[in-house]
Amino acid sequence: MVTATVGEQQVKIGPTQLLINNEWVNSASNRRFETINPTTGEVICDVAEADALDVDKAVQAARNAFTTGEWRKMSASERGELLYKLADLIEQNIDELARLESLDNGKPLHDSHGDLNLVIACYRYYAGWADKVQGKTIPINGPYFCYTRHEPVGVVGQIIPWNFPLLMQAWKLAPALATGNTVILKTAEQTPLSALRVGELIIEAGFPPGVVNILSGYGPTAGAAIAYHMDIDKVAFTGSTEVGHLVMEAAAKSNLKRVTLELGGKSPNIVFADADMDQAIEDAHNALFFNQGQCCCAGSRLFVEEKCYDEFVAKSVARAQQRVVGDPFDPETEQGPQVDKEQFDKVMSYIESGMREGAKMLYGGHQVGNRGFFIQPTVFADVRDDMKISQEEIFGPVMSIIKFKDIDEVIQRANTTMYGLAAAVWTNDITKAHTIANNLRAGTVWINCYDVFDAAAPFGGFKQSGIGRELGEYGLQQYTEIKTVTIKL
Ligand code: ADP
Repeated sequence: MVTATVGEQQVKIGPTQLLINNEWVNSASNRRFETINPTTGEVICDVAEADALDVDKAVQAARNAFTTGEWRKMSASERGELLYKLADLIEQNIDELARLESLDNGKPLHDSHGDLNLVIACYRYYAGWADKVQGKTIPINGPYFCYTRHEPVGVVGQIIPWNFPLLMQAWKLAPALATGNTVILKTAEQTPLSALRVGELIIEAGFPPGVVNILSGYGPTAGAAIAYHMDIDKVAFTGSTEVGHLVMEAAAKSNLKRVTLELGGKSPNIVFADADMDQAIEDAHNALFFNQGQCCCAGSRLFVEEKCYDEFVAKSVARAQQRVVGDPFDPETEQGPQVDKEQFDKVMSYIESGMREGAKMLYGGHQVGNRGFFIQPTVFADVRDDMKISQEEIFGPVMSIIKFKDIDEVIQRANTTMYGLAAAVWTNDITKAHTIANNLRAGTVWINCYDVFDAAAPFGGFKQSGIGRELGEYGLQQYTEIKTVTIKL
């Protein structure tokens, strides 16, 4: 057993090879790459690096499993049983997985536990759906009997990001497997470890060879090979809007594979003076700073009504000052490091740009400590809509507070963005709340709450925040093809 020492703790490292056809293998090139502990900046271990040849091998295994293997013959309820089994195994290993996630990603251990509870719920939710995906009988004209079948799309490529490695794996695998697809999953190069450990549990649960293949590797090589592959029927991608464009272009230039995208956001979080102010301040704090600010749905444009602006700003600064930044394994820690040096530098450059463009920095702006990638919780007030920090996704612990006067104005300003992932409104006026919910162009609107996620509730973006939905019954539709069968009577 390989372990890593973190402070006084030992963290068990799972497999570090590629999972193809239920076997752990080296990459065709034999190349490996290092994964870094963002808390210290030190190497944890290296993992096999997949490239196009490995993607080919994984696709072949997935194609065999889809067309001829045991998986094809399995009943829908048996697929559900396997997903339940996987959920149970993850639950039995929850502490080990949470520690591995925190080691590789840097998120506080209790947040990793929170993610894992959602992971388990997601697998169970879709396990329940496996034998409940039904077609229709359709009363067409003439002496015919017409019905539809909801069939799996086929071999699915799934490319996931580093901010919620285990949760994104679950959001991708669970609906794809419930509906009978086979999968090549590529993890993010920053965080390969936890998904590989789940790969072991997938084998233990009894999924047949080739059904789930897991590749560690880089985006422009392994990721692009998936997006361009001629024998992959669908690609599901979560990541930046920039790469979302590339994935869609690759699908268009290759075989028109189906594409679903969950991309970036610049979500408006709108606070009216009639809201429960202390609750709004606390939840707006978490809406932005949760997961080190590395959330696609972070409430990163914080619109605050003029009437309560000064109070809101002062209390938000006080709350940010109290935020505990430090060792992810310390139970007191609220915020760990950014995932890597590149993200650290990017966030710091946005902080500089906020200052340059004249936003008022009231707290933060500096690195914490002198190793790893920690950044102080940072609060900017008097942010204007035309500033870079108000328009671009920062993906870090940087709060931008923006003043507004009335509801029509804030709706218009909130919608002035290429993104449309999530939004929230804080008010005790039911009419105002629904008016905002109806008028914002976003895939999710939270009212007097934020970041409420449930496997049953769909999530995804309007505009350039994505295509398609994940989770819920809607999420299943993205993993099935509709076949119409017509019989002459
Ligand atoms: P971030 O900028 O937050 O790292 P990315 O969109 O670059 O987000 O990465 C999300 C996922 O997309 C990762 O798994 C990454 O390896 C992958 N990726 C990056 N570039 C490409 C590409 N050109 N084609 C396919 N996948 C890619």
